[in-house]
Amino acid sequence: MGFRPFVYRLASAHGLAGSIANTPAGVTIEVQGSQEGIRSFLAELRQEPPPLSRITGLDIREVPCQSDRDFRILASYQNEEARSLVSPDVATCDECLRELFDARDRRYRYPFINCTNCGPRFTIIRHVPYDRANTSMAAFTMCPACQAEYHDPLNRRFHAQPNACWECGPQLTFHQTNGGFPRDRDAIASAAAALKAGLVVAVKGLGGFHLSVDAFHSDAVASLRQRKNRVEKPFAVMVPDVPAAAELCEMTASERQALLSMQRPIVLLRKKENIPLAEQVAPANRYLGVFLPYTPLHHLLFETGGFWALVLTSGNLSEEPIAIDNQEAFERLGRLADSFLVHDREILKRCDDSVVRIFDFGEKVLRRSRGYVPTPIFLHREVPPILAVGGELKNAICLTKDNHAFLSQHIGDLENIEARHFFEDTMQYWKRTLETEPAIVACDLHPGYFSTGWALRLTNSPVAVQHHHAHIASCMAENHLDGNVIGLALDGTGYGTDGHIWGGEILLASYEQFERLAHLEYVPLPGGEAAIRQPWRMAISYLQHCFGREFLKWNLPLVDQVSRKRVELLLQIIEGKVNCPLTSSCGRLFDAVAALVGIRYEVNYEAQAAVELEMAISDCSDTTAYPFELVTATQGTGWVTCAKSLFEALLADLRRGVAAGQISARFHNGLAETLAKNARLFRDQTSLNRVCLSGGVFQNGYLLHRLRSQLLAAGFEVFTHSQVPCGDGGISLGQALVAAHVHDRESNKLQRVRKDG
Ligand code: ZN
Ligand code: ZN
Ligand code: FE
Repeated sequence: MGFRPFVYRLASAHGLAGSIANTPAGVTIEVQGSQEGIRSFLAELRQEPPPLSRITGLDIREVPCQSDRDFRILASYQNEEARSLVSPDVATCDECLRELFDARDRRYRYPFINCTNCGPRFTIIRHVPYDRANTSMAAFTMCPACQAEYHDPLNRRFHAQPNACWECGPQLTFHQTNGGFPRDRDAIASAAAALKAGLVVAVKGLGGFHLSVDAFHSDAVASLRQRKNRVEKPFAVMVPDVPAAAELCEMTASERQALLSMQRPIVLLRKKENIPLAEQVAPANRYLGVFLPYTPLHHLLFETGGFWALVLTSGNLSEEPIAIDNQEAFERLGRLADSFLVHDREILKRCDDSVVRIFDFGEKVLRRSRGYVPTPIFLHREVPPILAVGGELKNAICLTKDNHAFLSQHIGDLENIEARHFFEDTMQYWKRTLETEPAIVACDLHPGYFSTGWALRLTNSPVAVQHHHAHIASCMAENHLDGNVIGLALDGTGYGTDGHIWGGEILLASYEQFERLAHLEYVPLPGGEAAIRQPWRMAISYLQHCFGREFLKWNLPLVDQVSRKRVELLLQIIEGKVNCPLTSSCGRLFDAVAALVGIRYEVNYEAQAAVELEMAISDCSDTTAYPFELVTATQGTGWVTCAKSLFEALLADLRRGVAAGQISARFHNGLAETLAKNARLFRDQTSLNRVCLSGGVFQNGYLLHRLRSQLLAAGFEVFTHSQVPCGDGGISLGQALVAAHVHDRESNKLQRVRKDG
């Protein structure tokens, strides 16, 4: 990762002789020279290691002098360590950028310029070790000039596997969908012109195709939405630089830093008022996903077109995996795009853009993909090799090796056939790369998940992990926790041990096991899946649950909006218990509230009602909190949080004409307060002081912020996610850790039995 050439240059600069080699224990550097030279060498090594490296420890020893005259990089490339570790894709570095726009440079305006510190990695690799021959750059033979750089240890392109130039490397072409794909001379200029004219251009990126339009061109944005069949889910926009982002959004120093980080994720930023951006880009959302150019191609496109912001959304029909192959793109995106900006370097690993949001306590990765993958999550102990297959939605799998958990790129919802193929390919790739065929397989408890079916095909006895237990274990794992914690797992859907749909759970959890301390009360989910798409059903379900048919007399706007007839039909379904599974889902409680206050009756994407309910809060100073009631469960142990008092207070506000935004704030406040109250109650019961917050609901910034501060004020240690998504994209990590501990327990048992025997 550019470390050895860096050390070579550093040693030479300080007049030191010696060598550097990769060894199974890590990198070994031997230097000899003046005291002063060695001292400054070490200081600079610590202070400014190359951007892609990470020094986890430095062990210094004095050894007898050798007869070295110069500094050498020893051949050690094919050792164990270097074999399996591949770097993620990295945004174009400043030095390459300077050359890109330097008319005297031989790579002037070359769209694939890169060096040891930047460029594609993970997305171009076929198999390890990471060597040009094993990447999609194998198809391009380096010209003598590139060769020379590649072999010169003093050159910043020394062993840069994707090294290329106009002479020898990949080339861009522009194709018109309706013109039988005639090639164009200046591809970038043609693409920029097409975007300016309001057309949809499919742009081949690092980890897949994007569909792009000018973000200020309302008609173009609208037509992209329509063609992509994406009704309201927000689009992300790419802007040329930080000032351009600052004109659109509010930005803190850490948000700015996240935008500029080498991962170049999409950062969720607060939109400014009255910006001329097409409303259709992110309707009903106070936030905007913004990212900066991360390939030379992006930089060239902005430089040529002078754009302020381009919509850049994944090249797919909604919810299918992103297209990566040129032919595949022409076929699948032919009806979505007016033209194509493509190149002839193959994308071998599909990898979507990552998404982060910055909180006062740090960065939270909401989708962990390009730029982050394949960097492992470092665990605090070694675990046996495990394959965890994740859940059903936003799937990502996890493989463990030693104290590393390798979380795959975002795979997506395993509901369509393309995503399932992607899931299978990804599993094969990671097993091959890590050279592991794990005997332990972990999956979700849900018998109907595609991933669970896969786990069962791999082994007769996978470790089936309850969904919310996996969420909490995932949070524990990334925070290096052991022992027991109080876990608050709030999300939309997860299969419970009692066969009901859980999602508002308070657990006493360790990796090995969990106990359900409390949950939101069960209410019917009328019509099953249909209730998830139509939040108004959840509102009626809660109303019926709390007040019977009484509410029909209250002239609720919702009832008229939806029509009395449909409400009556739904009541019959609920009363007759027809297709009405029970749920304790917190996501569905958000749905009910969003529908009741008139924010959203039906949704077009997952969690839309909850997102818009949060976004409706305009005044954060309102501290009124709707009450919840905590009662002991009638069956079994544990507590149940009831929402009747909440709805009474909410309906009273609604009658008084209190604004939706204010009602939303009071609902959020009430939920935070009741969760904190729960935590205190269980601290008294269990004397546990550590609380883990996990589950998709914690993407909600207002709730997370509020709850976290209350817990901290009450003296709790509060843990949540930063590197791993709090949503279902993170559960495979938790599954793996639970499986590791279950395995430990089983093998201990076995050993005891043997001893006793
Ligand atoms: Zn570079
Ligand atoms: Zn070349
Ligand atoms: Fe979940």
